[in-house]
Amino acid sequence: MAVTKTHPAECILPVLNAGHRIFGENRVQEAKSKWPELRRCYADIELHLIGPLQTNKVHDAIALFNVIHTLDRSKLAEALKREMQKAGRVVRLFVQVNTGEEPQKAGIAPKEAVAFARHCRDRLGLPVIGMMCIPPLNEEPALHFALLNQLAKEAGLECLSMGMSDDFETAIRFGATHVRVGTAIFGPREG
Ligand SMILES: *Cc1c(COP(=O)(O)O)cnc(C)c1O
Repeated sequence: MAVTKTHPAECILPVLNAGHRIFGENRVQEAKSKWPELRRCYADIELHLIGPLQTNKVHDAIALFNVIHTLDRSKLAEALKREMQKAGRVVRLFVQVNTGEEPQKAGIAPKEAVAFARHCRDRLGLPVIGMMCIPPLNEEPALHFALLNQLAKEAGLECLSMGMSDDFETAIRFGATHVRVGTAIFGPREG
């Protein structure tokens, strides 16, 4: 997945013209301002939300994204279910796991992740396909990738969203099916 947050359409067009179709954004509002227009020219774009989602943005998120990587609480699961039913759309989901148990970071705690994923998939009937993590800075990411792999296996989920510009090769060694690469494709972001 090519992560395009902060990059304007003119930076994205060369990547689209080279044939890439899978993109990630971390904010609903920013994605809404950029992607509908690009989709008019490239109908087969697959758009992934990789940033936190507030329940008051669920309506827009379901209309815009094909996959959401940041499901991490029951209230959000219920809102997503209602909105998918209302819109008649299926948006695939990843459960975000806070593998480093960092207080400031989104994601469900590792010890609750398997039960939560099962609850969302089996009780609510949501299309949960995998788990996602963002390892803490300055820690060996491999430990977090291995943990996520193990949790996803336990929950019977096939997809693993892990690995960014600095560690995607390690993530792939640990079974990543979705790597989220921004800087290595588009260069540094401003700010
Ligand atoms: C920005 C972002 C990325 C991409 O990071 P790079 O280091 O630029 O590759 C990946 N995942 C998430 C959740 C992000 O917010």
